[in-house]
Amino acid sequence: MMVAEMVTMVDMLFHRDHPNATSVDDGNLICLRPSSVMGAIWRGTGGRCPRCGCTRLFKRFLKPVSRCVACGEDWNARSSDDFPPYIVILVLGHIIAPGMIGLETMVHPPLWVHLVIWLPLVAILGAAFIQPAKGGVMALQWWLADGSDQASEAAHNPEGASASTPEPSSSELRGC
Ligand SMILES: [Zn+2]
Repeated sequence: MMVAEMVTMVDMLFHRDHPNATSVDDGNLICLRPSSVMGAIWRGTGGRCPRCGCTRLFKRFLKPVSRCVACGEDWNARSSDDFPPYIVILVLGHIIAPGMIGLETMVHPPLWVHLVIWLPLVAILGAAFIQPAKGGVMALQWWLADGSDQASEAAHNPEGASASTPEPSSSELRGC
């Protein structure tokens, strides 16, 4: 196996990136736009910039960076509002409710047992899911507003730059 192929595999494993989103050139990673909405969402749920996949999307737990230092995308313009908590509630409801009902049906434990089991579990899973949900929603917003246009533009003109967002030179994207 060639070294370049191994580097690509490691990058895909540890950066959880879309297979078409990065490539290797002389040992350096080149950050590219995702080719599909799922590629953008995959990057966003992993906490990486949905546009380039090279840098972190969040500077704190739920606070996104103002602007991507690698691709220049302005993340101040994306406000996911209450949609991420709705997603987390929906997912947790489908995990917790069957567990609660099953435990009550089979064991009939006292109420304090339910409290001891389910309240911490809801808190832990909620904290674990909220950032990926927010990243995924921000990625979807970006894709619907700009990403799909940029992807089709890139497909028709691989050397072209986006008119709406300043495109960094290839040297700015290398090695990120
Ligand atoms: Zn970026």
